[in-house]
Amino acid sequence: MTAIGFIGLGIMGSHMAANLIGAGHAVTGYDVVPASVDRLAQAGGKPAADIASAVAGAEVVITMLPDSPQVAEVVLGPAGVLSAIEPGVLLIDMSSIAPETSIAVAAAGAERGVHVLDAPVSGGEQGAIKASLSIMVGGDMADFETARPIFESLGRTIVHVGPHGSGQTVKAANQLMVAGIISLVSEAIVLLEASGVDSTRGLEVLAGGLAGNRILDLKAGTMLAREFTPGFRIDLHHKDMGIALASARAAGVALPVTGIVAQLVAAARAQGHGSLDHSALLKVIESLSTP
Ligand code: NAD
Repeated sequence: MTAIGFIGLGIMGSHMAANLIGAGHAVTGYDVVPASVDRLAQAGGKPAADIASAVAGAEVVITMLPDSPQVAEVVLGPAGVLSAIEPGVLLIDMSSIAPETSIAVAAAGAERGVHVLDAPVSGGEQGAIKASLSIMVGGDMADFETARPIFESLGRTIVHVGPHGSGQTVKAANQLMVAGIISLVSEAIVLLEASGVDSTRGLEVLAGGLAGNRILDLKAGTMLAREFTPGFRIDLHHKDMGIALASARAAGVALPVTGIVAQLVAAARAQGHGSLDHSALLKVIESLSTP
């Protein structure tokens, strides 16, 4: 059993914390939204009223927050995690954020003797519920091995991908692919429907061929029904496309398709769909052919 402080109990963090409790760990959790802390208590965790209480006595601290500014505030801020934990604690940030923020957090941790990993995830809310997430980990190999039992309570595909920040770069590559695939599935739906072909049957046969993919497997039904409850919000995917394009710029490479797809995600936000699931990219593709 490991004493874990968990900060950020939203769509993903709530299920991940529940799985850690289910695996026998002692989880103390904090979120700015009190209802999310109550939900953790109902799942068998210990509620905390602030960051310091959440991490007091923790051997491992996990953060699952929206974006870089929140991670910087929660970890590096005056009342943040690093001001409240002892040297030797392992801090695992599982949020999807800019690689340079992960590198800065790791450097600040090292100054205090705190071990840090960036360990963003893929697999969506269902992956979080079923503890089947893909976990891409940046940081020292020894810390990765220490964290492995924790990761095994949360996911199935667990890979150390390189030094601090590289987990985030792999996650950015994941996100540009996911948004691109959703855009193409949306274009297939628009084509099938406009041509009078049975789109349910059409997507069924596509899922079994070379165009088969996880978006078709998991989201074809809800996309065809125009059901866009998140899941993964467009606002968060917009953030991830920004990270992907900034990473491409830093690496000196051109990602032309990602550039176009990032604009489709931006359009989804501009059309007021930021709080819908990212599969609502279908609404943008549809709007291009709607009088
Ligand atoms: P979410 O908005 O549901 O959860 C984030 C939580 O952080 C919220 O409960 C919020 O109240 C809390 N929070 C924000 N600022 C805080 C602060 N200062 N102190 C304490 N708590 C604070 O988002 P999510 O969908 O759970 O995503 C979390 C991260 O995981 C994001 O980086 C996202 O990109 C990534 N992610 C999400 C999914 C998904 O399918 N939802 C999948 C993979 C990765």
